[in-house]
Parts: sequence; C-alpha cells; structure tokens
Amino acid sequence: MKLSDRLKSGTKVYSFEFYPPKTAEDTAKLFNTALELKALSPDFVSVTNSSSGVTPYRTVALCGVLKAQFGLEIVAHLTCLAHTRTEIAEICSGLKKMDINNVLALRGDPHNVEAGARRSEYSYAAQLVADLKRDGGFSIGGACYPEKHPEAPSLEADIVRLKEKVDAGAEYLITQLFFDNACYFKFLDKAAAAGVRVPVLPGLMPITGYKQMQNFTKMMQVGVPDELRRGIERWDGDKDGMFKFSVEYASRQARALLAGGAPGLHLYTLNRSKAAMAILKNVKTAI
Ligand code: FAD
Repeated sequence: MKLSDRLKSGTKVYSFEFYPPKTAEDTAKLFNTALELKALSPDFVSVTNSSSGVTPYRTVALCGVLKAQFGLEIVAHLTCLAHTRTEIAEICSGLKKMDINNVLALRGDPHNVEAGARRSEYSYAAQLVADLKRDGGFSIGGACYPEKHPEAPSLEADIVRLKEKVDAGAEYLITQLFFDNACYFKFLDKAAAAGVRVPVLPGLMPITGYKQMQNFTKMMQVGVPDELRRGIERWDGDKDGMFKFSVEYASRQARALLAGGAPGLHLYTLNRSKAAMAILKNVKTAI
C-alpha cells in the first residue's frame, strides 16, 4: 500500500507511531502494544528513526518485523542529517527488500547529532525528499508544524520552506503534536494559500502527566490551552483520573478534527496501547 494512494481514497486514515525499543523487555511490551492496536485495523503504523545516525537499522529491522510478522502497513521514518547519500541509499534498499514503500523524510534535530557524526550532504529534509523522489519506489511524506518549527523565524517563513519540501516530492504531511485545533485549521488555510495542496494528517498525543506536558511542550514549543493545563494540574498524581481526563480531551480533539475535514488521525503512542485504543474506539463509535 502506498499511503499517498490510500489518502486519495477519501476515507479517513488512522495510524499509530512507535519508536524502536532499547531493551528486550521494552521490545516485548511493544510487540504486545502492536498486537493490541492491530485489532483496531490501523491503516499504517510509523516507526521513528534516531537522528543521531548511529542505529538506523533498528528502525529498518522493526519495520520489517511489524510488516512481516504483524501484517501492519508501515511508514518508515528516515532522518538525513547524520547520513551520507550512500548510507541513505543502503537504508532505502533494505526497506525496499522488505516491501516497505512508505517513507517519512525528515531532517532530524541537530542537537541529537554528535559533531563527528554530522555529514555535510544534507542540511534540510527537502533535499532528502528530492533524492527519494528521483530514485523512485517510495510514497514520500514530510513533517509539518502547525505552530511553526522551533527554528523558523515565523510560521509564514516555515510554510515557504514547507512548500519547497512538497514541490520536491512530499505527497502528504504529518503534523507535530498540538493541543489546540484552531492552530491546525489556521495552518491549513495558510499552507493552502501558499500553494501547499497535499493531505495533512494531524498528530495527536494524550498527555499522561504534568512533567510530560512540560517536557514535550518545551521541547516542541507547542501551546497548551487553559482547559488542558487546568485538567493536567487537577489530575496530576491521580493516574486513573489523569488517564480519563487525557483520553477524553484527546478524543474530543480528534472528533472535532475529523468533523472539520482532517483526512485522518496519527496517534503518538509512546509504544503504549491503552490511551491510543481508548481514543480510537471513542472516535470510531462517534462516526
Ligand atoms: P526541515 O523540513 O528540513 O525543516 C527544518 C527547519 O529548517 C524548519 O525551521 C524549516 O523552516 C527550515 N528550513 C527548511 N529548508 C530550509 C532552507 N532551505 N533554508 C533555511 N531554512 C530551511 N526526529 C527524529 O529524529 N526522528 C524521527 O523519527 C522523527 N519523526 C518525526 C515525525 C513527525 C511527524 C514530526 C513532526 C517530527 C519528527 N521528528 C523526528 C522531528 C524532526 O526531525 C525535527 O523537528 C527536525 O528539527 C526538523 O525536521 P524536518 O524534517 O521537519 O526538517
């Protein structure tokens, strides 16, 4: 399945993001999560890739197992900052051998790349997109940021760069997580006005703790609406209360996104199934 074709069908697309685990115990947990989430028939799962460039084959291997053993459709994340063109070609060849034909082309974060591992061949994701497009065989996606990428001087400037990435061959976009739907819809309007005309899958993540909210919002520079902040503060320390509140908030957000025309949902799972399952069940029973 090429995700770009699936998105053209017009029916909503549901997906989950996983990251490659580092221990045997976490691997077992992830496989349980994948089994549980498979029961919800996601259109695809995506697998992140460390931008350090040190372990690209962990992502390739996990993609292969999730496809061959679990029968899941895969979008493999591929970061380029720490790789040469030859290394990228090797990774792509590995993916193609496993019949994985969807790639999310990313730059990666410079602070994750040790000085010695930094290669000069790629500076931005659009260059990787252009290479992948030229070589063929993949449906190519890219990342986007409804509240702008942290390094961009303004949302408008970021969208100019995003247009270059789409012009280079990105056929769909997946957003950074956000908690305020107004940001997504305003972003869509601005992107469309700038000529970005590809499907934009919204990325959602249920918050499970006060510290987590602080860490993610600081790192990704995304806003937290007052209602969400108050709820997280109210339920901090109460695991069940927090879970209920958080799932309810994300489910409401998801329903409003779909009702407003979003092509589907991409759920950041942190390799856990419970919240993602609850949200998707809530959403699917409401439509
Ligand atoms: P780009 O599209 O290259 O943009 C990066 C910045 O450069 C932006 O500010 C943009 O405006 C600017 N820019 C672009 N082109 C130019 C130019 N020609 N001149 C000047 N400025 C320019 N990280 C990981 O390490 N692994 C992952 O698996 C991963 N998955 C992700 C999945 C999603 C859906 C998202 C939203 C992010 C993900 N990230 C991941 C994080 C991502 O790598 C970082 O946010 C990174 O800093 C930017 O990557 P990008 O592909 O968006 O970069």
